[in-house]
Amino acid sequence: MKKLYFVLFLTLLLEANEPKQWGEDVTGVSLKFSTSKKEIALTLDACGGSIKSSGYDEKLINFLIENNIKATLFLNARWIKSNLEIFKKLQKNNLFELANHGTEHRPLSINGKNIYGQIGTKSKQEVISEVEENNKLFQSLNQTRPLFFRSGTAYYDELAAKIVKDELNMEIAGFSIIADAGATLVEDEVFNRISNGKNGDIIIAHMNHPESGTANGIKDGIKNLLKKGFTFVKLSEVKNRLIYAK
Ligand SMILES: [Zn+2]
Repeated sequence: MKKLYFVLFLTLLLEANEPKQWGEDVTGVSLKFSTSKKEIALTLDACGGSIKSSGYDEKLINFLIENNIKATLFLNARWIKSNLEIFKKLQKNNLFELANHGTEHRPLSINGKNIYGQIGTKSKQEVISEVEENNKLFQSLNQTRPLFFRSGTAYYDELAAKIVKDELNMEIAGFSIIADAGATLVEDEVFNRISNGKNGDIIIAHMNHPESGTANGIKDGIKNLLKKGFTFVKLSEVKNRLIYAK
């Protein structure tokens, strides 16, 4: 009988450490923010890792600057290393908040789950290093430690998400509008998706694929939203009003 209880205890213990969720909207990920105003947060990822993924969409960023549009930029360490001069320009511009998009662009898992062929982190230690190595790179470039993190692929299990929030004291940025599906959509589709923006939405798109339809779609979509009276906020400005996945 004692042995049975022991086995039961061990099973419970193991299950407690086993993640139950795997996705873009696991417990603790912020998806939107609460507001009664016409406010939207634009977030742009820069992934790096290959020549094609290390591009810089200058047309898109210049449009934001010319129109005074705030945005939160999620930069991966590999992208930063390929674009150091651009990083230095972006960090001087108050319109932009710089955030962490991981060190090796790995999905955030405590036990090596993967998605889209990208292998996730395999342990708590790897979760921490995927986040912190890029934070250290930020600090080495005289950039303050970012408040927000988004993993490569934006996939998490809920235990990895909890480590980032509770132990590394960062917020995890999810989204409510996927504007360019990894910079694969044509500009009309990007335009339609952005134009549907509502109060408190968090938009995700990419700033590392100048060859894609993203820049033109975002430009027209944002012009449309501006006409409707929307303004844009950085995520840190709405940090206390984030709405989380349960
Ligand atoms: Zn990415």
